[in-house]
Amino acid sequence: MDSNNFRFLFLGVSVIFTLAVAYILTSPNSSEQEVVVSQLAIPAIDAEPTDLLVKNSDIGKTIALIPKKADFQYTESKILTHHIKQGESISTIFSSLNLSKVDLHKVIHANDLGRQFASISPGKILYINTGSNGQLQQLIYHKNSIDTLKAQRSADQFNVELISKSVKKTIASTQAIINRSLFLDGQDAGLSDKLIMQLAGIFAWDIDFALSIRKDDAFTVVYEKVFVDNIEIDKSTILAAEFINQGRTYIAVRFEQEDGSAEYFTPDGKSIHKTFLRTPIEFARISSRFNLKRKHPVLNRIRAHKGVDYAARTGTSIKTTGNGKITFRGRKGGYGRVVIVQHGQKYSSLYAHMSSFKRGQKVGSVVKQGQTIGYVGKSGLATGPHLHYEFRVNGVHKNPLTVKLPKAKSIKKSLLASFKKQTQPLIARLNPVKEEMLIVHYKTE
Ligand SMILES: [Zn+2]
Repeated sequence: MDSNNFRFLFLGVSVIFTLAVAYILTSPNSSEQEVVVSQLAIPAIDAEPTDLLVKNSDIGKTIALIPKKADFQYTESKILTHHIKQGESISTIFSSLNLSKVDLHKVIHANDLGRQFASISPGKILYINTGSNGQLQQLIYHKNSIDTLKAQRSADQFNVELISKSVKKTIASTQAIINRSLFLDGQDAGLSDKLIMQLAGIFAWDIDFALSIRKDDAFTVVYEKVFVDNIEIDKSTILAAEFINQGRTYIAVRFEQEDGSAEYFTPDGKSIHKTFLRTPIEFARISSRFNLKRKHPVLNRIRAHKGVDYAARTGTSIKTTGNGKITFRGRKGGYGRVVIVQHGQKYSSLYAHMSSFKRGQKVGSVVKQGQTIGYVGKSGLATGPHLHYEFRVNGVHKNPLTVKLPKAKSIKKSLLASFKKQTQPLIARLNPVKEEMLIVHYKTE
């Protein structure tokens, strides 16, 4: 397959990646998948399926099942599915359903577990089973995909119990050499699409998955599988990964802190998220800010100013704010001499009105954060020497001075020991898998 075809294969997935990567990067809790939780929330209760007012296909949708107080009448035994909304409490739900407050009191004070019904969370589901007389028989609350709280009427009292599914976690590893596409070869290596997207998200800062993946790139992944009641659920998490892209090796390892929060780092504890320099130029003053309704000083009419201007002497060095690749270097109308740097898939930066470019660089050159790419000038439409700097996120202009940039925190010194202890065995697991991969690779060639 020639490189054009190969590249074409990636165009299709690039959109998915952009979305996925954006999701992964913006969601601190991307492992929390409500869909999974809700699917598992199908009540395992002592009722005939025909009694259920909610179909499996409806689970996950928001269904308003709160009847009006006045015209609500119980005619038969029912299981109501109530999606808990923000601001609701077990008490207000009981009121809106005309259920007995005395029964609620009995549930909550049945035993130590009963009290947990008082701290239900919005977004979750309550199943309320009533008899033909409208009296509460059973109250079920799925706390999470593993634990279910159940209150069962027994004569005039309630028994409350916590039913927990068995959870088992195992560590698996796999590897692939890219031959067709990241998705196809990843699937062949046993990874779900979600895990493949996790992998792309982890390395999104270093690797442009849309354009820079090549045949013979390779990856190794060590990941955790989760089984609930011996059934694997779609909650696998990458624990360590290595990606070799065009001969460069990137390694990331997941570190989970005591509070359960987790991030990926390099093996020596540096964040894999690269941040940007806020300012591409030293010793300059801002002469014009990001302003969507600015009167243009040369054109003398309202024209959005989608960047920041830094007034500086002609010849002052302009530095790229982040690691990336030069995607444009040349003249661009009113911008004069321009350099555009692409940083992964999500971010790009633009530097305009240059007097000259840095020698030895061209379109496609890889540049490092802080590296000089050109010099201040007044080429194009400019009243005086200045740098016009733009920052785009997913192609949209953002104010470079205020745009929220991902933090690149290294591991805290105080955590370094536990970081090493937790991550070294994972990194060690990458190596034998890699060796195995090389043997397989040479055998097939
Ligand atoms: Zn400007």
